[in-house]
Amino acid sequence: MTEWSNWSGKQTDAPRRRFRPSSEVELRDAVLDAATDGSPIRAIGASHSHSRVAATDGVLIELDDWQGVVSTDADEQSAVVRSGTRIFQLGQPLHAAGLALKNQGDIDKQSIAGATATGTHGTGPTLQNLSNSVQAMRLIVASGDLVDCSPDSEPELFEVARHSVGGVGVVVDVSLALRSAYRLHEKQWLESPDDVFARIDELTAATRHFEFFWMPQRDACACKSLDETDTGPDPLPHLEHERVGWSHDIISSIRDVKHTEMEYSVPAELGPVCFAALREMLQSDFPDLQWPLEYRTLRADDLWISTATGRETVTISAHQDIALDDRPLFEACEAIFRQHHGRPHWGKVHYQTGRELAELYPHYVDWWRVRDAHDPDGLFLTPYLASLRP
Ligand SMILES: Cc1cc2nc3c(=O)[nH]c(=O)nc-3n(C[C@H](O)[C@H](O)[C@H](O)COP(=O)(O)OP(=O)(O)OC[C@H]3O[C@@H](n4cnc5c(N)ncnc54)[C@H](O)[C@@H]3O)c2cc1C
Repeated sequence: MTEWSNWSGKQTDAPRRRFRPSSEVELRDAVLDAATDGSPIRAIGASHSHSRVAATDGVLIELDDWQGVVSTDADEQSAVVRSGTRIFQLGQPLHAAGLALKNQGDIDKQSIAGATATGTHGTGPTLQNLSNSVQAMRLIVASGDLVDCSPDSEPELFEVARHSVGGVGVVVDVSLALRSAYRLHEKQWLESPDDVFARIDELTAATRHFEFFWMPQRDACACKSLDETDTGPDPLPHLEHERVGWSHDIISSIRDVKHTEMEYSVPAELGPVCFAALREMLQSDFPDLQWPLEYRTLRADDLWISTATGRETVTISAHQDIALDDRPLFEACEAIFRQHHGRPHWGKVHYQTGRELAELYPHYVDWWRVRDAHDPDGLFLTPYLASLRP
């Protein structure tokens, strides 16, 4: 029995058995092994979730030996990839086929199955989260059956599987909708929050990706914009805070200072007032806070449990040092997010109950109905996931 911990070290567990499959047969055997004594299963990617979504004391299935691009289709602008493939492993092979992900998050260390399971997203008012790029999935459900699902085949299972929170099976392969390879021009600058919000609509609408980190100690915003470009040497030699490169080299950053995080999605029109309320509260109640708030945008979609379902969205995240108790900060932030109709990120810290979450999503009960139908004995229902049942 070896202990599991997530990236930050704030979440730990002691799985009874661990598997590291390298074939579909071994993946299936791991699921069937869990079924022998009803041990709750978690398949894990990079364990980068801040919440307990990846934790289990039952059977842990690590997918580090189940990685790689299986095929690409330049005409259809799509690719099939193994579920354990890390996002940084996609850049080069997709680029060689003239393809790229439509968007990426802040980092590229996550696995594709982990990222899609939690609705991982980047920033941009025309860009949706990664679960929206899934066009088909192959997974092993609780019975041990291998099932292919898509909008045309097992559509309800597909709806749950593409944003699964690990709850409906072990994903084997993911078929992704992509776009042609593209270059981005990055600009970074510092600006006061008042100046940023005086032109926030212009900043978000005028660039493909806009985001900022507000640093409470300096009361300043570290802003970043990325725009598509066909020009520019790489790097731009004369500009200190600008660079140009292929999307997979530009979008993600290195975030290696360990922290823990809460993130909420609020309706886009409430983003500025929600940020203002957080800024005021943090300045008055947490004057020593060293960690920033991050402000991003996300296009509306119609996935059952996407935090952007049915509404254009602003996402705001709060961070805390792993050596500190994060609860006072996160509870204070969550109170403000709740006042602004916030929906919590599926891979980050929150304190909402299943009944409360059901109020936030028109199809929350449907998601659970389909999940339960495919896993009646609760093999994929860890205590954490069960706590989110409506
Ligand atoms: C430094 C850092 C930066 C981050 N930046 C962003 C960001 O920019 N945007 C954003 O939205 N989020 C961000 N996150 C959150 C992160 O993207 C998500 O938590 C994501 O789920 C992590 O992917 P992972 O591969 O580590 O998944 P894990 O944490 O390992 O697992 C997440 C969930 O996916 C399930 N899962 C994994 N693989 C499979 C599989 N094969 N079959 C079935 N279920 C599976 C797990 O069971 C679990 O429920 C960040 C996290 C960190 C630590």
